[in-house]
Amino acid sequence: MKNITILGSTGSIGESTLDVVSQHPDAYNVIALTANASVDKMLMQVNRYKPDFVVMADEQAAERISTILLAKGCTEITVLSGVDGLQHVASLDAVDYVMAAIVGAAGLLPSLAAAKAGKRVLLANKEALVMSGHLFMQDIKRYGAELLPIDSEHNAIFQCMPHDLGSSLSLHGVERILLTASGGPFLNKSINELGAVTPDQACSHPNWSMGRKISVDSATMMNKGLEVIEAHWLFNAAPDKIQVVIHPQSVIHSMVQYRDGSVLAQMGNPDMRTPIAHAMAWPQRISSGVAELDLFDVAHLNFQRPDFNRFPCLRLAYEALKSGGTSCAILNAANEIAVESFLNETISFPMIPIVIESVLTELNSVDASSLEVILAADHSARELAKEAIASIR
Ligand code: NDP
Repeated sequence: MKNITILGSTGSIGESTLDVVSQHPDAYNVIALTANASVDKMLMQVNRYKPDFVVMADEQAAERISTILLAKGCTEITVLSGVDGLQHVASLDAVDYVMAAIVGAAGLLPSLAAAKAGKRVLLANKEALVMSGHLFMQDIKRYGAELLPIDSEHNAIFQCMPHDLGSSLSLHGVERILLTASGGPFLNKSINELGAVTPDQACSHPNWSMGRKISVDSATMMNKGLEVIEAHWLFNAAPDKIQVVIHPQSVIHSMVQYRDGSVLAQMGNPDMRTPIAHAMAWPQRISSGVAELDLFDVAHLNFQRPDFNRFPCLRLAYEALKSGGTSCAILNAANEIAVESFLNETISFPMIPIVIESVLTELNSVDASSLEVILAADHSARELAKEAIASIR
């Protein structure tokens, strides 16, 4: 029986994780569930999974949950709040596995806490690696933690690689990583029409059902850019060894090309329960509830090169990775503000890369030597992005 903390349990990855947990009640026990402010969803999860701890990042939401649980006579569940509460449940002695599925930079400190506590970290929160890849990988090693990628692409690469994350690729005969991308909902839309697209259109992903932030990132292909950075840290791969391949069917989740001409691919239906179940059970295999892939039904697999004119966010991510230092933290922070403003209908879809590029141009990258330096860069980038957005309006 493995004890698990699910950070971001009310989100899309969190719910898929709970679905896998409920299929294996004798193998996994939920110790802690966390969210930001979704009180009603959390109460339903508490009722069903009976965790020892509930953490709400939002203090008022934590107070509401506490009051409701007390009124029901439920005193055995500890309710905590804020980042301290999140870090506490990510590092409890009783916990074996931590699913890191908070969205955005808010996931960084709790994910790091899990690494420092030597847990098996099931990492969905790509932003943690984007912001602080070097420090994160260092802590995983230093504290004897285990890092299993949840992002379907990185989980696929992990499955196609020798299993020693962080070692030299060329030593294993790896020529390059082929990171697949669906191209999102606007792959074939005329670039001239992108100015009029709505948040709901951007969030209607053709293959995956995901939270709204990552859905917009998929539409701009910033998601793929963040994944290039994530792959760089996870697999110790230079930027020019990571090739993005547009594959609209999302059946191949990524590939690894070897020196001898072999290309290994991991395939499956686009459902996050597969990588989640893989990472939870690794090195064993368990059922995930995902339907078998029917290749006769799929019939065709297509591939194309990404177009940086259509997807400037992908270019910006490669440039930030090559420039190093705090550039990726700046890119991530500016993107979070720009995406939020697009979702609030404050800026149009094509303004997202313009805001990010203006912040990257204005803010100097420095050596990402400590968490404090990274968090300071994150803060400054957010302020600059807000100023850039205010000047556009
Ligand atoms: P969702 O938006 O669906 O869920 C986000 C979760 O994080 C919710 O539980 C939310 O709580 C919580 N949360 C939001 N803000 C905060 C905060 N400030 N402090 C603490 N908790 C917070 O996101 P997804 O599940 O789609 O994505 C989660 C992560 O996984 C992201 O980093 C994403 O890039 C990554 N990922 C997602 C995939 C997917 O298929 N969805 C695929 C691969 C990676 P509340 O409900 O209260 O807001």
